[in-house]
Amino acid sequence: MFDTLQDRLAATFKNLRGKGRLTEADIDAAAREIRVALLEADVNLAVVKDFVAAVKDRARGTELSGALNPGQQVIKIVNDELVTILGGETRLLRFAKRPPTVIMLAGLQGAGKTTLAGKLALWLKSEGHSPLLVAADLQRPNAVNQLQVVGQRAGVQVFAPEPGNGAGDPVAVAKASIGEAERRLFDVVIVDTAGRLGVDADLMQQAADIRDAVSPDEILFVVDAMIGQDAVNTAKAFAEGVGFDGVVLTKLDGDARGGAALSIARVTGSPIMFASNGEQLKDFDVFHPDRMASRILG
Ligand code: GDP
Repeated sequence: MFDTLQDRLAATFKNLRGKGRLTEADIDAAAREIRVALLEADVNLAVVKDFVAAVKDRARGTELSGALNPGQQVIKIVNDELVTILGGETRLLRFAKRPPTVIMLAGLQGAGKTTLAGKLALWLKSEGHSPLLVAADLQRPNAVNQLQVVGQRAGVQVFAPEPGNGAGDPVAVAKASIGEAERRLFDVVIVDTAGRLGVDADLMQQAADIRDAVSPDEILFVVDAMIGQDAVNTAKAFAEGVGFDGVVLTKLDGDARGGAALSIARVTGSPIMFASNGEQLKDFDVFHPDRMASRILG
């Protein structure tokens, strides 16, 4: 991931390394190179503009401190600005004061929601929680079964529709799952919802109805990082149609450029909370903006 961006930024910093002090021309040249690097990484244009302006401003205003050479100073500024566009502080999951904590997953079909549900459940288990997976994706014929398989792999219970608990009606299933969690003392409920291939009104309405029925503590928008700037557009549609508290980026392992990762927090104003980087349930982690920035800078 970030292959080209990493190389391009490294080249920019290398050019500054030998300088005794930063001139206006050095800063302009570096800013141009950073702009090209970010655009090549498919970062959203508005984000690129803000980013480059902030780096330039800070580079100009920097007093040369004895400890850092000009190259190091620019690296520090770029690092800080990367952390900022990636969301700043790590945003941890908020748990309800009174269990169960309800987490709702929303996103397009194929984004990796069902897989993510299993990953999140496994991770929560390792953190000492007792999660319940809820199959509220009744659109795709195989979705319930897929969640059951994922639940089995994670060693987590799955609440699936059967006559009496709202078979065929995802809103009723989601609602019934809360009572089930209360009775059986699950402290986190993870509701997997239906996704379509493209954003559509019915999908949004169904997700909004589920949201209204279960009042989630966290709505997580799950998005495939490999779709690049389409991730940003899809996020905007979900923000309007359903609303969400945080983003989960999936398939980071297949995303060489990193445009979605670098754009989505800033464009949506919502933090990236988790990252998924493989098909195995263990390929999952809390998203740390500072660590991601360090990785980009190599
Ligand atoms: P859903 O339709 O949103 O529920 O998506 P699924 O969970 O069914 O995932 C769609 C496909 O993407 C499946 O083949 C998953 O194995 C795959 N997948 C999910 N997450 C990741 C990931 O982080 N990396 C990779 N490489 N594949 C993933």
